[in-house]
Amino acid sequence: MIGIIGCGASGMLAAIMAARGGCEVTVLEHNDKPGRKLLATGNGHCNLTNEDQSESNFRTDCLSEARKILEQFSKQSILSFFEEIGILTHCKRGYWYPQCDQAAAVVTALEEEMKRLPVHVIYGADVTRITKGKQFTVTATVQGNVNEFSFERLILACGGPAGDHLGQSDFGFRALRSLGIPVMRYRPALVPLELENYDGKSIAGVRMEASVRLHVYDHITDTENSSETSSEPKNLEESGEIVWTDYGISGIPVMQLSRYAAKALDSGREVTVSIRLLPENDTKTIHELVLSRSESPVFSSRNALEGLCGFVPAKLSAWIMKRAGIDPASRMCDVSKDMLLRYAMELDQMTFRVKGLRPYAQAQTTCGGVPLTEIDTGTMEVRFVPGLYITGELLDVDGACGGYNLQWAFACGAVAGRAVAGTQQ
Ligand SMILES: Cc1cc2nc3c(=O)[nH]c(=O)nc-3n(C[C@H](O)[C@H](O)[C@H](O)COP(=O)(O)OP(=O)(O)OC[C@H]3O[C@@H](n4cnc5c(N)ncnc54)[C@H](O)[C@@H]3O)c2cc1C
Repeated sequence: MIGIIGCGASGMLAAIMAARGGCEVTVLEHNDKPGRKLLATGNGHCNLTNEDQSESNFRTDCLSEARKILEQFSKQSILSFFEEIGILTHCKRGYWYPQCDQAAAVVTALEEEMKRLPVHVIYGADVTRITKGKQFTVTATVQGNVNEFSFERLILACGGPAGDHLGQSDFGFRALRSLGIPVMRYRPALVPLELENYDGKSIAGVRMEASVRLHVYDHITDTENSSETSSEPKNLEESGEIVWTDYGISGIPVMQLSRYAAKALDSGREVTVSIRLLPENDTKTIHELVLSRSESPVFSSRNALEGLCGFVPAKLSAWIMKRAGIDPASRMCDVSKDMLLRYAMELDQMTFRVKGLRPYAQAQTTCGGVPLTEIDTGTMEVRFVPGLYITGELLDVDGACGGYNLQWAFACGAVAGRAVAGTQQ
């Protein structure tokens, strides 16, 4: 009997592949439905994978091992698998989604495929303990009663704490440590950033295209909390739509940079973000554009808010004016050149120190976890715990935004499921 803990992305793939290979499978899931996190993916549209398969989209300390796993269940295998179970797919600007754009359809198709096969899912089963003797003994509270299950082979597919408002926790990491399996430090990834000396109440919700550069300084500022030396890149830049919030910044470019910020902050280093609101213009052009407003008869008689319109959304402009010392109600011709230059400099580049990351509830995935060197990449089996398999977010791989985390979860699940059934390709 094969046991799987977690009926999420990797757990369902593992269950289907194992059962298709002739195994009887029991899945223990603490929610009352499958794939609760899957339902929330891609804003409910479920970004399954991506056309761009560059390795830099998978972040790990052991890329060569990750590659071996991804090659066994490629992007094309994922698309074909979903087509087989009734989910046609389409590609939008490189991002693959179900044709119907509904994560719910993906979950239903996976659930129906499990029902067709010898897969028994026990919902409302909160696993609290795993021990290893001759077999694996799994303790779970089911409908208020404590039950013990015995499995010859066990696939741990219960994800990390990211999205903890959806019922996630760090149970998997704790259980793995209790079995003597090394777990690297883990942190939220694909998560917004909190900024220092920043009051964004008046601009919360404002969105605009921008470029964001993350800079990691060499000196260690926080020796007490310094945990590891950082070998991460020092300067990283991403562009796209950013969202200003009351605590800092969010949006895809920010989320992409967050795992590097997390690692650098953990190693006690100072991290800043520089935001360029008009990245297509050089500094000189921005300065000229702003200064020309006070000289032009079109703008000089207006108030500052209207005189400086059109560069960024009005709320953001008023906020930047405050930083530059400009009263939005003052007449343009009364605003000093120094103040206008300060406003132009802010448009060109605003730099903030990063205070920290938002909590797991706002994270899409977890970075860190079980090093891939602990796993047989042909099977997902833990090298020194025969019969135990680990998949998905519990492993030290976090993908960029764009479908890479689900791709990783699906690939691991498929490899583990086939391995327990002995049907590896
Ligand atoms: C809001 C949001 C949006 C996202 N959007 C995307 C996207 O569009 N594309 C993409 O590639 N990735 C996306 N991700 C990331 C992606 O969802 C995860 O990386 C992926 O689901 C991880 O798969 P997994 O199988 O490891 O874990 P999960 O899918 O999280 O499944 C784990 C399962 O285990 C169960 N479980 C946990 N603990 C226990 C326990 N103690 N007992 C019993 N059951 C337990 C959970 O309830 C859950 O069903 C998003 C994540 C979030 C939070």
